[in-house]
Amino acid sequence: MSISTLARSIAASPTLALNEEARLLRERGEAVIHLGIGEPKNRAPMTAILSAAAKLNTGDIKYTPTDGIPSLKKAVVRYTEENYDRVVAPENVIVSAGAKQSIFNILYSILNPQDEVIILAPYWVSYPEMVKMCYGVPVIVTPEDGGFYPRLQEIERAVSSSTKAIIVNTPNNPSGVVFSEDTIAQIVALCERKGIYMIADDIYHKLVFDGAHAPPALKYTTKDIESTKIIVVNGVSKLYGMTGFRIGWAIANKKLVEVMTNVQSQITSCASPFLQVGAEGALNGLQGIVESLRLTIENNRNVVTQELGAFTGVRCVKPQGTFYCLPDFSAYNRDSIALSKFLLKKALVVTVPGKEFGMEGHLRLSYAGSLKDVTDGVARMKWALDPNSPNEIYIGDKKMVRDWM
Ligand code: PMP
Repeated sequence: MSISTLARSIAASPTLALNEEARLLRERGEAVIHLGIGEPKNRAPMTAILSAAAKLNTGDIKYTPTDGIPSLKKAVVRYTEENYDRVVAPENVIVSAGAKQSIFNILYSILNPQDEVIILAPYWVSYPEMVKMCYGVPVIVTPEDGGFYPRLQEIERAVSSSTKAIIVNTPNNPSGVVFSEDTIAQIVALCERKGIYMIADDIYHKLVFDGAHAPPALKYTTKDIESTKIIVVNGVSKLYGMTGFRIGWAIANKKLVEVMTNVQSQITSCASPFLQVGAEGALNGLQGIVESLRLTIENNRNVVTQELGAFTGVRCVKPQGTFYCLPDFSAYNRDSIALSKFLLKKALVVTVPGKEFGMEGHLRLSYAGSLKDVTDGVARMKWALDPNSPNEIYIGDKKMVRDWM
């Protein structure tokens, strides 16, 4: 086949593939519940919609500077000062078509072939594939205790002379845990000692519960933005429910931003102008929207963890952030892909197999949807798997009887 070996080795994003599968089932009239989806249900903030619409109405929709429109970069600079207590210059900011593109752009700009990137399991599905796409080598560090919190000794053991970077995502997709201040401080110190980049994927940084706080990496370095190797990634997708705007950004030293800008100029030229203006509207508008989303999600989290607590044999670490949890279903099936398929077939519930995140035996459930979807979804899963649950259930208007136990 005349297709590149590397391209052929890249797996499809399993979450996007599941979105498509759920959409097709819904189109066929099936009463699917989607607990796989990584996006909140709320409408985009009004300030984002009005700003984007006003820009669109001008009819003047042209290329923008590659690194982003100056007014959005200014809003990002202010956001960084307010949330990270760091004054950065516009030249430290590059806007991309989503945090996903920011991360790819960073990896492409720092990696030489065969450079290693440490990824902490459980990890976001795209990291290893992106590293491979940049001819790098993903090095996965899995906590030996089977938990979700990385240990410094385990990370340190994975560092080699080829290590170029470590990616740290807290609050964490898929586990929902928030790493401690100590952990972040230790990773920052390790990176500084070894001269490696720390890519801090902060896309969920304000979606935290029970008064928790996601410690920002930049707080633990005394170096200024030009000399630190910490790169911060953020965006409007998750906190403002603006996944379809596709606006994210990276904060890094000016030299790296310049290189990333050259790279981006050869790929997408720039993010879409009216979507950039929309993101600016969200960042400059009332921030109560983020808090109300956080409260809704926290309530969903409470319900989902309570329901999972009453699921025979399932163990769930209570998430402190994001809109995901990663319960252990190995009592039912160690093969998470098979289990996820079974749940889709029997109960019409979409879940994401833990294997995709480097945690076999687990399933990632999203509680970003409506409370009804969350409760009905878990009830259906119980019906499909848990012999202690009622034998009958309604799926849509169909009464279903469990006959396989
Ligand atoms: N990082 C993590 C950990 C994510 O979960 C996601 C989205 N699922 C992204 C980055 C990418 O977000 P964006 O929509 O801004 O590309």
